[in-house]
Amino acid sequence: MTLSDHLNLRKLVQDDTDESDFLAKALSDSRFDARLINSIYDRLDTGVWIFDFDEKRIIWANNKALEITGAPNLTELRSRDMGADMSHSVEQRLNQYRQDFIQRDVSFSEIWTLYPKGKARVLQVTLSGIRLNDGRMAMLAEARDHHEQQPETLRSAEALMHTTVMISLFAMGGSPLYRNTAARAACVDPDTNFFSQFQNPADIQHLKERIERDRHARMVAKVRTNDGDRWHELTVRPCSDVVTSQPAYLVSEIDVTELHETKERAQYLASHDALTGLSNRTFLTERLSKVLAAAAAKGLTATLYLVDLDDFKLINDTMGHAAGDSLLQLVANRLKEIAGPNDIVARLGGDEFLICHLEDPEAEGPGWFGKSLLGTFSYQQIIDGRPRNISLSIGYSHYPDDGRSIDNLIRNADLALYQAKREPKEKCVRFKDTMRKRRDENLALKKDLERAIREDEFVLYFQPIAFTKTNRTVSAEALIRWLHPEKGLIAPDQFIPLAEDTGLINEIGAWVCRSVAQAQARFQQRGLRIAIAMNVSPWQLSDPEFTALMMDLPDIYGCDPSQISLEITENVVLGEIPDALTALKELKNVGYSIVIDDFGTGYSNLAYLYNYPIDGIKIDRVFMNDISTGGAIVKLILSLADALGASVVAEGVETVEQRNWLSENGCHQFQGYLYSKPIPEDRFIGFLEEQSHLEPVASN
Ligand code: C2E
Ligand code: CA
Ligand code: CA
Repeated sequence: MTLSDHLNLRKLVQDDTDESDFLAKALSDSRFDARLINSIYDRLDTGVWIFDFDEKRIIWANNKALEITGAPNLTELRSRDMGADMSHSVEQRLNQYRQDFIQRDVSFSEIWTLYPKGKARVLQVTLSGIRLNDGRMAMLAEARDHHEQQPETLRSAEALMHTTVMISLFAMGGSPLYRNTAARAACVDPDTNFFSQFQNPADIQHLKERIERDRHARMVAKVRTNDGDRWHELTVRPCSDVVTSQPAYLVSEIDVTELHETKERAQYLASHDALTGLSNRTFLTERLSKVLAAAAAKGLTATLYLVDLDDFKLINDTMGHAAGDSLLQLVANRLKEIAGPNDIVARLGGDEFLICHLEDPEAEGPGWFGKSLLGTFSYQQIIDGRPRNISLSIGYSHYPDDGRSIDNLIRNADLALYQAKREPKEKCVRFKDTMRKRRDENLALKKDLERAIREDEFVLYFQPIAFTKTNRTVSAEALIRWLHPEKGLIAPDQFIPLAEDTGLINEIGAWVCRSVAQAQARFQQRGLRIAIAMNVSPWQLSDPEFTALMMDLPDIYGCDPSQISLEITENVVLGEIPDALTALKELKNVGYSIVIDDFGTGYSNLAYLYNYPIDGIKIDRVFMNDISTGGAIVKLILSLADALGASVVAEGVETVEQRNWLSENGCHQFQGYLYSKPIPEDRFIGFLEEQSHLEPVASN
């Protein structure tokens, strides 16, 4: 038991109705004096002070009160202006107390929590009135440490102490009023201001706005803690401090770092491409919209590029997938190097990339990024330790000139890319309105073509191929025509490329196969020994139905495969077409012969020819111009064919000089307007029958 427990001050004061009477009595006793009385007060375990309502200051206090309030001495405590930041409600309460004390002899008991030096101290405070010598009513406060707590209070204090949830109370300005054990353990320093712990100042703004709007805020933020930077989920509620009744923030926090990082990692993995580390398609539209909005706000423009590697499949197939992967990484790194910090660089899949490049319209011309990129690929690259030429196609659209919505910009860049892919010279192409027009036309054409397939609107023309020496027909090339009900005869150049792009070529090709087989059978029946060359589009060779049909043709129509040759283009032999080699070998086994069309226009890698079952080559018509200047290239092709044991047909022969030159230089067969244009079957038969009346001439 402490002295204050024995010496019940309240009792002393209350037993006598007049306090000055009590003091006078005490002082009149010779055993007491003021010094002794004072020393009694200073030895009390109860903090006692007197508060002057008018001055709003403590005017007297004992030692214990100094300790409780953290004052070094009475002078300092007396100098504290309690009214300085007193809230209106506290002021009202004090006024009420003063009235109550004046009217009757009452006392009030309250539980206060004070934070002298940041440490909470719970006190049981009794407030009563005391009249000063000048007659004014003041307030006597007696404060004891609050030990005799209610079981609930004890439990809640215990729970607060042991929970891992960090609970704290901050004044509106952020200075700490209370922290539970977990919160104390986490904070860098007990005096840390609530707001100063946020790593990202935008979070503070965000938090305040939410509280303002919803009276409550919940957020995950990066905060500075004793453990370094951590992610906390914070719940913040405005409240009023029970002690001072000042507005305050009640904050509870939990550490969600692991969860947050796992989530972030999962989100990163889901939104990034594992091979190149670039973003993938996930969230791309969202991110692009944000970047474009930011660009517009800063007065910047942007260009959206689609980049596609040419012949990527070829590299993958000829050099292996590891080489393909390292090429993709090389391109990705190059893109990252050239890109600005706010640009978006993404891999859309396969060998297709997207870049959204922000630009200052004053500083950069359109297409700058794409041109720089092409520039870095203008020399050989080392892929898997080997030098290699890499060609890219780039299509781009400008924001806002070529479109404002993401969808539009991508679609337009795609149209430009489509053209770049087809363009061997201009590989960085900007979107133009005419491209959209062309796409619309293509869509209409595709529909039209689908009808043509259903309605069987195609016919075959035949262009005779003759011996250069004798001028007699040896074979013919079957060339498709579209007999359009409104537009008349349409040349294959007008619809075959689209048919190839849209996959319709497989159906059209099947029609050609059947028609060629039927024609060959008819020629046979007429006793005309005429071979027919048929054009096969590259992707048909990947279509198992094509090979199956070709195998069945002799049985269905009675044609002779040895009288049918298949004209394929160089990219087929270059490995761009899956399963082409297998298909070609099967076809050859059935008896068809294989000829390379447009020879010399594709890759100049001749080594591949040895690996393919090739019977002949057709020299492209562009080389006929070469003849007037000596024909060096044609001579080279002829000697190559000779070495391969392949037959040769020269295409596009339009002049007698060309034919004579070919004849003199060992090219035995030719085809071209000089001899005959492509003609319908009946005319072709007439053409042949005319020749049968001629003297038979020994073929070369
Ligand atoms: P191609 O296979 O190179 O066919 C030769 C083209 O050259 C034909 O054009 C022919 O009319 C033209 N030509 C022939 N002689 C001369 C000449 O002396 N001077 C000039 N300037 N041109 C000449 P056509 O019939 O318009 O065919 C164009 C292309 O369409 C063909 O080129 C071929 O790639 C494709 N094609 C034609 N028919 C078919 C087919 O049934 N299937 C497939 N997949 N493609 C076909
Ligand atoms: Ca051809
Ligand atoms: Ca050709």
